[in-house]
Amino acid sequence: MNNFKALGLNDEILQAVADMGFENPSAVQEKAIPVLLNEQADVVALAQTGTGKTAAFGFPLIQKLDSRSKHTQGLILSPTRELCLQITNELKQYSKYVKGLNTVAVYGGANIRDQARAIEKGAQIIVATPGRMMDMMRRNMVDITKIDYCILDEADEMLNMGFYEDITTILADTPKEKLTWLFSATMPKEVSAIAKKFMKSPIEITVGTKNMGATNVSHEYFVVNSRDRYQALKRLADANPDIFSVVFCRTKRDTQKVAELLIEDGYNAAALHGDLSQNQRDLVMKSFRTRQIQMLVATDVAARGIDVDDITHVINYQLPDEIETYTHRSGRTGRAGKTGVSMVIIVKSEMRKIKQIEKIINKQFTKKEIPTGIEICEVQLMHLANQIHDTKINHEIDPYLYGINEVLEGLSREELIKKVFSVEFTRFFNYYKKAKDLNISVKAEAMEASGDSTRYFINIGRRDGFDWMSLKDFLKEATGLGDDVYHVDCKDNFSFFNTDTDKSEMVLALFENFELSGRQVHVEITKDRGRKGGGGGGGRKKKNFGGGGGGFKGRSRGGDRDGGNKGSYGGKKRKSNDGNIPFKGKKRRRK
Ligand code: ADP
Ligand code: MG
Repeated sequence: MNNFKALGLNDEILQAVADMGFENPSAVQEKAIPVLLNEQADVVALAQTGTGKTAAFGFPLIQKLDSRSKHTQGLILSPTRELCLQITNELKQYSKYVKGLNTVAVYGGANIRDQARAIEKGAQIIVATPGRMMDMMRRNMVDITKIDYCILDEADEMLNMGFYEDITTILADTPKEKLTWLFSATMPKEVSAIAKKFMKSPIEITVGTKNMGATNVSHEYFVVNSRDRYQALKRLADANPDIFSVVFCRTKRDTQKVAELLIEDGYNAAALHGDLSQNQRDLVMKSFRTRQIQMLVATDVAARGIDVDDITHVINYQLPDEIETYTHRSGRTGRAGKTGVSMVIIVKSEMRKIKQIEKIINKQFTKKEIPTGIEICEVQLMHLANQIHDTKINHEIDPYLYGINEVLEGLSREELIKKVFSVEFTRFFNYYKKAKDLNISVKAEAMEASGDSTRYFINIGRRDGFDWMSLKDFLKEATGLGDDVYHVDCKDNFSFFNTDTDKSEMVLALFENFELSGRQVHVEITKDRGRKGGGGGGGRKKKNFGGGGGGFKGRSRGGDRDGGNKGSYGGKKRKSNDGNIPFKGKKRRRK
């Protein structure tokens, strides 16, 4: 018997399943479909990226809706435009034999009236991004007061992107009796919180280990000085000549900058971020799919919808702000049963985060060395030899063979080979022969030391209009420390947060005289909950990393690259009501 049939799916859907060529249900489908079909209950389903979650909720949703009635019965919230379109397309395929069933996508960046008209014609299912959904609700263009099912897809990512408030507002407009199905790749505490708040004793379905990354992805990290980040990236690319990768940066600015440098240095690279027009983004994605682009440099948000198989490497040029996002990044590779590598370029002080990520993904990272110039030259030479060996002979050359032979007369086979290789290789070799070792040694004690963390008490909290996300944003911005502010814990009247211990002097000094909306802000170190307190402000030795040959094109600009990253959080907007907290006396310092 057809395995999908055994799950209880009807003929219309089974026919569509056959058309799509799905042979067997995936694990999450096998577990979730019977529950969603048969239980009148809220459900939380956790399964890693690429495991077929869309069909896991899509099949039961389609089967349970009444396609003869035109009113909106199912609402799916999804974090990005790309995912919204992807889900809509999938649902349309699943329901192609269900007469009268209409699925409409609602997302920003497209004409809102067109979308409203499509809904007016009758949309039993709406797939929406939270922002646009709110817009349409305000303008009375949608009616979700009679829905039976609400699906929060990629819930972790929606929360990462700061959609908590929007989701709350949207759900407030839906009937109490509806069922809520939450799908997520990871279960950070924010997702448990949302499940607690909006769902009634949900049935939990977990596939694989909770929060686990894709199993066929190996995880590697490389420790370099921050000024060498870009060169390290280049070497990783050069050591993998057939690389087909997504390179993740934290900000749009860095994304653009890294892509530009790569292009300048002769790589097939392009940037993908939210400042590009939709048209530009579509073009970039098309070139990436057709492999004209080998290295796609992207922000997390822009990359979220990327559904390209065969990606060989995910490179974390910088770690994400929220370490939970790492799972989404590494999930871009190792899809469809292929193996993949997720590489992370870090500086010493980020060792702590590798440990945290290991806990989340429940897998170990391997510490690897950035290849030396000589190693890269070897890889490239052998790659060239293989390329020559595998090249199909172009017989258009035949008529010119006589002339060519005459020119090359007198060269032995060996000389000929050497010369052919030199044509391709000398430039490369010259570039790398003086290249220095980019690795920095990380001793066990250094790892411990860099793990030294200080916990602070701060006298602001929910009462001041913050939640954990907006407070974290505020602290990142106020201290200029970006994601070196962590473990933010927002209480009613006060809050806690951590930074590395070597930042504590700076943090305390910063808040010595700091006003927020006319109120004095106090920050002090708390002893009890700090991890290993440690002597504050043991200033790191400054080394002079200056100069040193090498002839890298990107080098002179590489020096200040990391400096540029810091403080770039000012431009990062979160969709939250607290986005414009008026803080006076704002001081900004860089480390
Ligand atoms: P997720 O939401 O878990 O990241 P998707 O729902 O986007 O994953 O599915 C990933 C891909 O797998 C899609 O291209 C989808 O069409 C395909 N797929 C889903 N279920 C099956 C199945 N049972 N057999 C084969 N392919 C499937
Ligand atoms: Mg999905």
